[in-house]
Amino acid sequence: MFKEERDDSQFEWTMLGNVEAGRPNLGLTTDVSVYRLMQFTLRDTLIKEIGVEAADRIFYQAGENAGRRFFENLITKKDSFSDFIAELQERLRTLKIGILRVEKSDLAAWTFTVTVAEDLDCSGLPVCDEQICTYDEGFIAGLLAAQTGKAFVVKEVDCWCSGDRVCRFDVKPAA
Ligand SMILES: [Zn+2]
Repeated sequence: MFKEERDDSQFEWTMLGNVEAGRPNLGLTTDVSVYRLMQFTLRDTLIKEIGVEAADRIFYQAGENAGRRFFENLITKKDSFSDFIAELQERLRTLKIGILRVEKSDLAAWTFTVTVAEDLDCSGLPVCDEQICTYDEGFIAGLLAAQTGKAFVVKEVDCWCSGDRVCRFDVKPAA
């Protein structure tokens, strides 16, 4: 699973395992702070080892991979864009990842502004003047790429950490 070298992603959804069978007493969920502890210590270590830029690139790529896999495994309504968004909103809400809203969309130009409230990665963090949701940027890019077959660039422009109540992402086609 993780001991073989690789040039391409070898992640498969089955790697997530049968949590229900494995945790009969503790169950499917954990505390948000535990998720953040893992993610932030990993990011901290990556920055220490390889620098901010490379760490950001890895987080974005991992998010993109996750977005594609999420789409493949959890999204069933792929025929219309609005049905896709509606199902995505529902999935993100029931999995407690965040509350997604499409603030602006131009389907002809494939540009969007989307917000995520109560975001799993950052809501409630100390304000630090940074947009930190790099993984989410990739995640949204991966989801949209899987749905549309197009490549997107996603940039977070407002974040809980930069003083906003929601994370706001500008989405545009990759050049
Ligand atoms: Zn954010």
